[in-house]
Amino acid sequence: MDAKIKKITQKISDLFIHYTLPLFVALYFIATGAILFHLNYLSEKQVRLTAMENAKIYSETLTEFRSLYTTEVVVAARKFGMSVSHDYKSKEGAIPLPATLSMQLGNRIGGTEYGTQSRLYSNYPFPWREKIGGLSDDFARAAWEFLQVNPAGVFTQFEDVEGKYSLRYATADIMRQGCVDCHNNHLKTPKADWHIGDVRGVLEVIIPVTGSVARVDDMLFQTFLMLSSFLFISLVIIVLVVKKLQQRTIEAKAYGEATAITNQFLEKEVVARKKAETKLRIMSHVDSLTGLYNRRHFDESMQLEWKRAVRFRQPIALLMVDIDDFKRYNDHYGHQAGDKCLSAIAQQIKTTISRETDVVARYGGEEFVVILPATCTITAIEIAQKIRGNIEALAIVHEYASSGNYVTVSVGVASVIPDSDVRCDELLSSADQALYQAKHSGRNRVMTKDNANDKV
Ligand code: GH3
Ligand code: MG
Ligand code: MG
Repeated sequence: MDAKIKKITQKISDLFIHYTLPLFVALYFIATGAILFHLNYLSEKQVRLTAMENAKIYSETLTEFRSLYTTEVVVAARKFGMSVSHDYKSKEGAIPLPATLSMQLGNRIGGTEYGTQSRLYSNYPFPWREKIGGLSDDFARAAWEFLQVNPAGVFTQFEDVEGKYSLRYATADIMRQGCVDCHNNHLKTPKADWHIGDVRGVLEVIIPVTGSVARVDDMLFQTFLMLSSFLFISLVIIVLVVKKLQQRTIEAKAYGEATAITNQFLEKEVVARKKAETKLRIMSHVDSLTGLYNRRHFDESMQLEWKRAVRFRQPIALLMVDIDDFKRYNDHYGHQAGDKCLSAIAQQIKTTISRETDVVARYGGEEFVVILPATCTITAIEIAQKIRGNIEALAIVHEYASSGNYVTVSVGVASVIPDSDVRCDELLSSADQALYQAKHSGRNRVMTKDNANDKV
């Protein structure tokens, strides 16, 4: 499960790394869109709130003016015998009805500059107001119904009025004491049973918000421009930085790959060199003709085995094996046949020596040496005789040999339990002297120094 989550996370982060730029661009558009959408929402809300506040003030102002006019002007004027009428302009000694005057005031306050309107209508308009004072549209009817039930409430709606998007704000027009008699007793009243506190009509204020919306839209557009410029500059910077980072990543990857290839190459080179060194080391210790160890290896081994023999106070024996009358062999059978013979004899000595710790080497020319660690003279002589016998048994024809018809060897044997006073050269010299004696005693035999050991 963990591995699965890890894999998915890895895939997502790979996607991000791979598609950094398109993702940034997409994010940029989404962010800009979201900000603008939110700003638009906020501004619309603000416009509506402001319109509502304005409408409230406007409506309250008109209502207040009407009651003030009623109490302060209409009542006083009546006392002095003046009449109050909707057609006050054509009547002598008449002043306008409170409703008539307040509507005039309303339409004058904001009418010309802002297109603000105020309307007063009812289900029971006086005959002369039937055209404009009735419930002329859906909003008016709905407001009338609503305010009948909720006289203290406000009924609002945003809609197009005369081509302008506007707030329609309706409040209840309550029958007051100063008005109820006049309404009930008027000759042309459509309803004569009014009571104080009845909802006698609807006062509607219309506030166009098109101008505010346009202003807000303008501000919004400016904000959008600023925001876009800022985001665009940020995006350009991000794009440049990301491109640079991507380039660096690619370079680092390429560098890593190149380094890995170089390392691989170097590792192979090191392995090849080690192989070559090992081969060289072996070659430098092996005689190419016979495959036996060479003189150098013999010298090193001799030193080593000598030291070991000194330390453990053990005997060490040395055999010097020399082919008899080999010059004659070469002379009569040719140098190539001589080489073959040398190899065969070398091989035979090697196979005769069974212990792994024994060292067989070509000492030079047709001479071989065998180091026999931890071997006393008697055993050494036995081994030497085995060698001599096995070589004779090869039966390599040598018609010119002084000791028979086959190739034979003479072996000088020396063995000693060394101490630090004795040098290893002395062992070599003893073996050499024994070999010399073997030669002079007739060849094809094994001898130790000053002690004749015949071939059998
Ligand atoms: P002796 O029995 O006294 O040892 O007589 P010998 O003839 O074996 O000894 P001598 O030292 O007179 O001659 C050694 C010969 O060995 C001379 C040389 O031609 C031959 N020889 C030495 N090294 C090689 C080699 O690598 N290949 C061949 N074919 N002959 C070799
Ligand atoms: Mg020799
Ligand atoms: Mg010889």
